[in-house]
Amino acid sequence: MSADPLHDPPLRIAEIFGPTIQGEGALIGVPTVFVRTGGCDYRCVWCDSMHAVDSAYRHDWAPMTPGAVFAEIERLAPHPLMVTLSGGNPAIQDLGPLIALGQARGYRFGLETQGSVARDWFAALDLLTLSPKPPSSGMETDWAVLAECIAAAKSARVVLKIVVFDEADYLYAQDVARRHPAVPMFLQPGNHTPPPPEPSASDETAVVDHDGLNERMLWLIDRALGDHWYAATILPQLHVTLWGNKRGV
Ligand code: SF4
Repeated sequence: MSADPLHDPPLRIAEIFGPTIQGEGALIGVPTVFVRTGGCDYRCVWCDSMHAVDSAYRHDWAPMTPGAVFAEIERLAPHPLMVTLSGGNPAIQDLGPLIALGQARGYRFGLETQGSVARDWFAALDLLTLSPKPPSSGMETDWAVLAECIAAAKSARVVLKIVVFDEADYLYAQDVARRHPAVPMFLQPGNHTPPPPEPSASDETAVVDHDGLNERMLWLIDRALGDHWYAATILPQLHVTLWGNKRGV
């Protein structure tokens, strides 16, 4: 744990918002505060969080000490809850001091990352969600590093979550499941109409193709059940169903 979290090196923070509910994966529906860190080592073609990948897209990221980040979490949610660390790729920064600070006050921490950087503080998490990116993202998976991420979590709970746009993505998800059969797998239909990244674009006017999403969800269910892939959990993005592409909810 940090000796002085108020004066630790600052973190690049794109946004902190909530409490709201977790919209996807193993904690779907669970009340949470989101901390989106700034910066990512990937550039997925369908990224829905470019404002947290590149600061040029939306606004300047705030440099905040772990103590300042936790003070904002406590201000938003004065009673302990699950904090979701997301990005960008939150694993490219040292979030260990923030996690230790919050856990000492009863807060729990889940982290979402593509699994391209392994950190020893993964072991302190209450949930590690690894979302390796399928072929439609345009990114390549480093299988050795993904395995290192799972190993780094030690006894912490780990799940895999894969966004599926098409058949190639589905086959990729099956490959991941074969490589890591002991890790629970969540499948999620991809959103072809994510929020536009341009600074001038309004979140509220980013129209979601709900029919297309439903169609992809039904296809994904049929595909997995047709393969007798009963170990997979198939979920839509609940927040997109409820709020479309609006941010900060
Ligand atoms: Fe966006 Fe996530 Fe891909 Fe980074 S890894 S570019 S945050 S979708």
